[in-house]
Amino acid sequence: MRPSDIQQIGEHLAIAWEGGGETVVSLENLRNACPCAACKGETDVMGHLHKAPSQPLRPESFRLKQLSSVGGYGLQPVWGDGHSSGIFTYSMLRDMACG
Ligand SMILES: [Zn+2]
Repeated sequence: MRPSDIQQIGEHLAIAWEGGGETVVSLENLRNACPCAACKGETDVMGHLHKAPSQPLRPESFRLKQLSSVGGYGLQPVWGDGHSSGIFTYSMLRDMACG
């Protein structure tokens, strides 16, 4: 399932899906769910979670500067604080509830 339309509406991102349905997610929830290693941490073979000391998020951290599509399977947001390493797959986005 791919997006047929993506629009930022105020503090939310609205995604209309091909074949019907819509997902609306707040930019704050989206940023907090950033799946990149720096935000999520990485688990080693022993199951220990390594996580860089998290940087305090600033208001601009939740501002969406740019949104690019990645290889036809996901979206990569560029945030106001310059963070851009998180790639949200379409299935992740579809699972995100309105917030
Ligand atoms: Zn991240």
